[in-house]
Amino acid sequence: MNSSALRVTPQRRAVLDVLSSSDHPTAAEVLERVQHQLPGVGAATVYRTLALLVEAGQAAMLRVHEGDAARYDRTVERHDHLVCTECRRVTDAQVSLDAHQLDQLAGQSSFVMTGYEVHIYGRCAKCAAASENPKE
Ligand SMILES: [Zn+2]
Ligand SMILES: [Zn+2]
Repeated sequence: MNSSALRVTPQRRAVLDVLSSSDHPTAAEVLERVQHQLPGVGAATVYRTLALLVEAGQAAMLRVHEGDAARYDRTVERHDHLVCTECRRVTDAQVSLDAHQLDQLAGQSSFVMTGYEVHIYGRCAKCAAASENPKE
């Protein structure tokens, strides 16, 4: 299926708007925000729309926290993520891997690389500041 095959329905428009304006929301967060814009829209419709958008390459599904709900990303081009292990916020980032090192690794392992995605775990600025200045 290519992206032009997807008709733009109000539900799809609303889901895409939510994905563009929020940072890697979960399906439940998308649902909540879409229902704000389009009262009465059902959970099944929103979840099906998310799945369709991912299938059509207009959104990406992201699993960064083991056991957590999947998150959705409007940016489908290759990019990496900074993942806060405290507030679970996910921020876009670009990490450049050394091409020479990748070549070496591919040579040593006979692994045919087709892409990579880096998740860097740690604490976001807010959480890092909070842990340096505990309010106790
Ligand atoms: Zn955080
Ligand atoms: Zn992203």
